[in-house]
Amino acid sequence: MSSECVFCRIIKGEIPCAKLYENNDIIAFLDIMPAVKKGGHTLVVPKKHYEFITDMPDELIAKAMSAAKRIACAVMKEADGVNILLNNGKAAGQYVPHVHFHIVPRYKGDKIGLAHWEALKYRKGEMEKVQERIKKLFEEGIC
Ligand code: AMP
Repeated sequence: MSSECVFCRIIKGEIPCAKLYENNDIIAFLDIMPAVKKGGHTLVVPKKHYEFITDMPDELIAKAMSAAKRIACAVMKEADGVNILLNNGKAAGQYVPHVHFHIVPRYKGDKIGLAHWEALKYRKGEMEKVQERIKKLFEEGIC
């Protein structure tokens, strides 16, 4: 637990939240600044403080994803679709340095820019080089 971290403070009950779900390891509450007008944008947060998903044990990730699935199930009762999103690192848009999955309800034509990017093309031979670079990390047991 970090005394500075806003999500740790929510977990400790020092800051209120609109809680939707909780178990021993995970809490889920409404995002205070939702991406969608109709609301329901939810954050699924491990209670133990980790800054990055890459720091988390696999079992805890599985528990967080299981909670995310339940929230997504509830969201899908009203919405047309759902994005499950994690910003890992500042460059990826992570503002709160405590792992959290965003569960974002989506509606047809809502124009929320979460899952759209310009689809680029690899130059000849570049894809294979990238593939080798990443596979090497697995082969060498680094990741
Ligand atoms: P990220 O950019 O992935 O770090 O997203 C952090 C999210 O946390 C943002 O969508 C914020 O609106 C949300 N947030 C920050 N403070 C609170 C809070 N006290 N209660 C609920 N959500 C919060």
